[in-house]
Amino acid sequence: MKKSFSLNDQVALGVDVGGTHISAALVNRQGKITHRAYTLSAGAKGRTVVVHRIKKIIRQVLKSSKRDPGQIMGIGLGAPGSFDFENGVAVSPTPNIPRWRGVPLKKILEKTFSLPAWVDNDVNLAALGEKYFGAGKKVRSLICFTLGTGFGGGVVINGRVHRGFFSAAGEVGHMVVKGNPLKCKCGNHGCVETIVGAAGIVRRAVAAIKGDKKNLIMRMAKGNPEKITSKIVFDAARKGDRIAKKIVRDTAWHLGATISQAINVVDPELVVIGGAIAQAGEILLRPIRKTVWSHIYFPERKTPIVPARLGENAGIYGAAALVFQQNGFL
Ligand SMILES: [Zn+2]
Repeated sequence: MKKSFSLNDQVALGVDVGGTHISAALVNRQGKITHRAYTLSAGAKGRTVVVHRIKKIIRQVLKSSKRDPGQIMGIGLGAPGSFDFENGVAVSPTPNIPRWRGVPLKKILEKTFSLPAWVDNDVNLAALGEKYFGAGKKVRSLICFTLGTGFGGGVVINGRVHRGFFSAAGEVGHMVVKGNPLKCKCGNHGCVETIVGAAGIVRRAVAAIKGDKKNLIMRMAKGNPEKITSKIVFDAARKGDRIAKKIVRDTAWHLGATISQAINVVDPELVVIGGAIAQAGEILLRPIRKTVWSHIYFPERKTPIVPARLGENAGIYGAAALVFQQNGFL
């Protein structure tokens, strides 16, 4: 389904299927985003509802842009889980969307919109977005880590996503930490994500505070441990709370240790860190750099570690970059 395009038509439709929201927009080759639309993803209602919402939001973008599908280069879509890239079929389960495995997303989108479509893991596409439109513009290879509810990674080598044989490359959150008995949502025990993900940070804070109402984290959560969030923990650390500082330090250590192992395998030119928790900024990045640079093999190379630049747009940019790339433009 390859077509030829004039310069004005060099626009891709990017879709980002997240845990809570689905967003879609048009992106041109210069990186301008237009005609954005959002909807709730309602993943818990299952794949039929999610697919229906994806179609609805794409229609919305097409309608508001007043473009025919013929004036768009293709649809790129990032979603949780692993995808058989050639066929665009989900090959792994994902805890947020029941019965996601087996959904033939590429075929559904191509049939519905008569446009070529490509589907990939959301973190892979965030990495590709940062490579072409964000923090990684000047490099050829990078690993992009996203830290929020989960801890994921996307590997870009020579400008292209490295997906791996079973499409599961970059799953750094499921590296094992010795002595960690916790069960991960992937079904295994001991995954680092159970420590550094948002729930892990909150769990450690609640355990360390031991109900002490005078503690700053507790006060910031209005005395209710159920209201503690990872953001509160980072804010309390910034204000000097001893327990919060220790949790941030431990989080950074575990992240740094995992990242240094990934660097040892891939040897990227750059490491990019994004996601909701990474917005905490230097309070997290500084100790991560320290741990990484004292653990990687041949530390003198000091692989640069920088914050992501695209924020919540990374997925849309990456989905668009994938479309441009598949059309031979990147
Ligand atoms: Zn796991």
